[in-house]
Amino acid sequence: MNDSNTTLSELKEQVHQLCLRKGWGVEGVQNPQHVAMAMTVEMSELLEHFQWLDPEDVTALMEGRDPERLAMIAEEFADVMMYGLQLTRTLGIDITQQVLRKIDIVDHRPPKRREHKR
Ligand SMILES: [Mg+2]
Repeated sequence: MNDSNTTLSELKEQVHQLCLRKGWGVEGVQNPQHVAMAMTVEMSELLEHFQWLDPEDVTALMEGRDPERLAMIAEEFADVMMYGLQLTRTLGIDITQQVLRKIDIVDHRPPKRREHKR
């Protein structure tokens, strides 16, 4: 399984099955308030791997010259994503619809003076 051949619904189900195997929540469904809070903790763990990096370090990361740091970032990103998948499954949020909706909103928003280009 990879991004090219896996749907978000399949990933949501994989995370749900993990919760069931681990006995987390009620029938594999954890309180979405707790899940959202846990997601921010995992986001902080992700950010830790970027803390105090020099621009050269970031460049090395982007050019694939720091595979150890990339692996740690990937693992923390997976934690964030898994909570996101759990949250959206529990609340019935369709990720694709919401991302496309948000892209449309941003696309039609008037440009700000300092629009981020990177
Ligand atoms: Mg973590």
